Amino acid sequence: MGIIREHIPEFEFSIDVAVVGAGACGLTAALAARDAGREVLVLERDARPWGSTSMSLGAVCGVGTAAQRAAGVEDDPESFVADVMAKTEGRADPALARLIARESGPTLDWLTAHHGVPLLLDFKWTGLGHSRPRLHIPPGRNGEELLGLLQNACGRAGIEVMTEARVTDLYADADDRVLGLRIERPGGVVEHLGCGAVVLATCGFGGNHAMVTRHIPEMANAKYFGHEGNQGDGILWGEALGGAVGDMTAYQGLGTLADPQQIVVPHPLLIEGGFLANAEGHRFTHELANISGMCVPVLAQPGGVAWVVFDGRRHEACVPHSVEQRQLVEVGALRRGDTWAELEQACRVPEGTFAAENAAIDTARSSGTEDRFGRSFAGLAPLAPPYYAVRVTGALFHTQGGLQVDDGARVLRPDGRPLPNITAGGGAARSISGPAVTGYLPAVGLCMAVTLGRLAGASAARLCTDAPAAA
Ligand SMILES: Cc1cc2nc3c(=O)[nH]c(=O)nc-3n(C[C@H](O)[C@H](O)[C@H](O)COP(=O)(O)OP(=O)(O)OC[C@H]3O[C@@H](n4cnc5c(N)ncnc54)[C@H](O)[C@@H]3O)c2cc1C
Repeated sequence: MGIIREHIPEFEFSIDVAVVGAGACGLTAALAARDAGREVLVLERDARPWGSTSMSLGAVCGVGTAAQRAAGVEDDPESFVADVMAKTEGRADPALARLIARESGPTLDWLTAHHGVPLLLDFKWTGLGHSRPRLHIPPGRNGEELLGLLQNACGRAGIEVMTEARVTDLYADADDRVLGLRIERPGGVVEHLGCGAVVLATCGFGGNHAMVTRHIPEMANAKYFGHEGNQGDGILWGEALGGAVGDMTAYQGLGTLADPQQIVVPHPLLIEGGFLANAEGHRFTHELANISGMCVPVLAQPGGVAWVVFDGRRHEACVPHSVEQRQLVEVGALRRGDTWAELEQACRVPEGTFAAENAAIDTARSSGTEDRFGRSFAGLAPLAPPYYAVRVTGALFHTQGGLQVDDGARVLRPDGRPLPNITAGGGAARSISGPAVTGYLPAVGLCMAVTLGRLAGASAARLCTDAPAAA
């Protein structure tokens, strides 16, 4: 795996723009390159495109969209940049944050209006670092649907997605211009594809244990709950070509992965008044202070697990909207009790502990103060029977470091000059989460995928100067 500069074979066929990876980034890039009149081929290692995109909740943040305006939500790039800088304690790349602030809205509008990918404004995930409602979600509210919508859009645009096509190497000349790709197909067949430009949409490196150990040692032994194809290939090729990387220590984590069922417990259960308690029945953190960073305190609890505690009212409200909540029911992950004592018994936590935590929350609420972790439950109805709990653990979802790109998603060298014909987006590019787990703003992952994807595809279309644009 790497860059091959010598003994470059005859290419069996050539394409204007080769996109590596058929997740949200790659498919969006393909649409943009096709819109610019280029012939595009998407190469995907799996038999069926899936990626972290399908595993996601499908929520994409976008700033200043038509959907926001239609709902009377005022948003602007400055507010988004301020939110990013507040969340990352000023450590995100400001130029990148400004780029995403400016381009995410037009990207979501373009996907919706031109490519039939409906993204509806969502009000369920409020706050959590976003000062305005700016999360957009497909009607079915999941990432699998989002990927399906993008695949359909590519189909309509005449874009071919070649599956079971694992790109192993890039062929490049002495000036670091990519000339083509080496592709492994089933049965050991190797093909060579020439191209005018390449989009790296191979996502991050969460599935590459050696890279995680090197860059994010705190998660080296944690569960990885992203797509196993996220091996860091694009980042490694970009680096080998002389590209710069940034924020390699950053990642999106989550402290609420159902254990052992591996289903993401819907966050609105906590937002709307639920709490987290450890295996000894004690709360240990402000549940909403940092969704991504919550994996760290959860993993630090006895056994690396905790309970998400909520009630029947929250459960019933969640079921219609959440595939995950329905799945949790189907697989029997929910513990239930008509009293706190019953729930404590069902969860095998010491008697009286959940009840005491709930009573402390009620006391804080009725006295109008914050609880001992600084969380306010004001305006939220008290939990009422029946009570529910799901056991959860912390996991690494998605790495946030990657290739440094410019305003056109072109991969940059350390001195700021772009590589000749290579662009990157999504998990393969540096994000706007700063260097730590605490900097991840909800729905930024897919935002980086589609926004940089659009820019990367459009730039790749411009960069393949040798190949004339199709009529
Ligand atoms: C459980 C979970 C929930 C999440 N929820 C959200 C959410 O609601 N909102 C949000 O914004 N973000 C969310 N994220 C993060 C989000 O999923 C990612 O940021 C986003 O999917 C990245 O898109 P991508 O196109 O870069 O990568 P992917 O969707 O992973 O696509 C990359 C593709 O490249 C392919 N590939 C890799 N290497 C090669 C190769 N050498 N040759 C050919 N193909 C290759 C892979 O097989 C894969 O299909 C979530 C992540 C997880 C794991």
